[in-house]
Amino acid sequence: MLTSKLPDVGTSIFAVMSQLAAEHGAINLAQGFPDFNPPAALTEALVEFARGSQHQYAPMPGLPLLRERIAAKTARVYHVPAPDPATDITITSGATEALYAVLAAVVQPGDEVLVLEPAYDLYGPAIRLQGGVPVYVPLTAPTFRPDWQRVADAITPRTRLVMANTPHNPSGAVFSDDDWQQLAAILAPTHALLLSDEVYEHMTFDEQPHRSALQYPSLRERAFVLSSFGKTYHATGWKVGYCVAPPQLSAEVRRVHQFVTFSVSTLAQLAITAVIEDSAHYQELPAFMQAKRDLFGELMQHTRFELLPTSGSYFQLARYDRIAPGVDDVTFARRLTTEHGVAVVPVSAFYHNQTDHGLVRFCFAKQDSTLRAAAQRLHNL
Ligand code: PMP
Repeated sequence: MLTSKLPDVGTSIFAVMSQLAAEHGAINLAQGFPDFNPPAALTEALVEFARGSQHQYAPMPGLPLLRERIAAKTARVYHVPAPDPATDITITSGATEALYAVLAAVVQPGDEVLVLEPAYDLYGPAIRLQGGVPVYVPLTAPTFRPDWQRVADAITPRTRLVMANTPHNPSGAVFSDDDWQQLAAILAPTHALLLSDEVYEHMTFDEQPHRSALQYPSLRERAFVLSSFGKTYHATGWKVGYCVAPPQLSAEVRRVHQFVTFSVSTLAQLAITAVIEDSAHYQELPAFMQAKRDLFGELMQHTRFELLPTSGSYFQLARYDRIAPGVDDVTFARRLTTEHGVAVVPVSAFYHNQTDHGLVRFCFAKQDSTLRAAAQRLHNL
């Protein structure tokens, strides 16, 4: 008989809520993807390349010109020495594959991996599949700022890796300079590595910049920094991301990557290569998403939801206890979807033991008309 390696893991709540949304004709503010198209320049480039002749495997680490342009962009955006495209950058099938490849490359059975929770739902299961032990440190509402003393206390000689995520899914919290400095100080005397999940790097609000682990030399030398073109170009279905890490760390990621996917869609890489030097797109992204956050916030003022602050990502957390006191978040999310026509994600999905804090997550990366229609449905609650 087959013994499951992840017996407690079922279909992800994201897929469940999207399915429920489809069945009930609900507006889907659950799963994190835009309902508008990528920039036309990107889709046009894709069409043009599709008519051409580059349809075979891309090089294992990614197209050289794309890696060169990522290196130049990284240096330009973060004012840091450029990563070496030959040795430091690996194109992956979304940040998801990069996360998995990093964990598979570095986690040995019994190693501890520190996870700030709530956390993206892949982290815990992917650590456990490597025989690693996730060690959870809570982030607490309403700010979800890390308590660095608790992080320091959770580090042991067995800590192989610390996972950071800024801007943060699901809370929208953003690391400050002080947060990074504190993490750098905690890791300095250890051999722990850092995985910095920065897929929402171009979505921070209120003039607050995104700070990358790449900007802190003592972190950069031990860090895998992940980004996602899916997020940056409103093209989550293209599944193209990348990992920046020093040569020795990248070499280990590539050892896994070459046997997981080997290489990533050539056409998608070509199209991204064609647009990535146009910095206007990602420079305009913070204001574009902030306007959506603000519109959604305004619309939701006419409801009985209580919104928590969000400084980045495209997510908005909300308390619902004025609407349904005492109801658990999964039941509430299901009811919202099936009875009121708006799908959301219960935040307990981001906790390894499904802790219920009476919160749901909305995704506001939607057309203004979608946000208005959703808010309209929530007015009556
Ligand atoms: N990390 C976080 C925090 C995410 O929210 C997501 C996407 N929801 C990913 C990684 C995965 O990114 P990708 O779609 O590029 O695989």
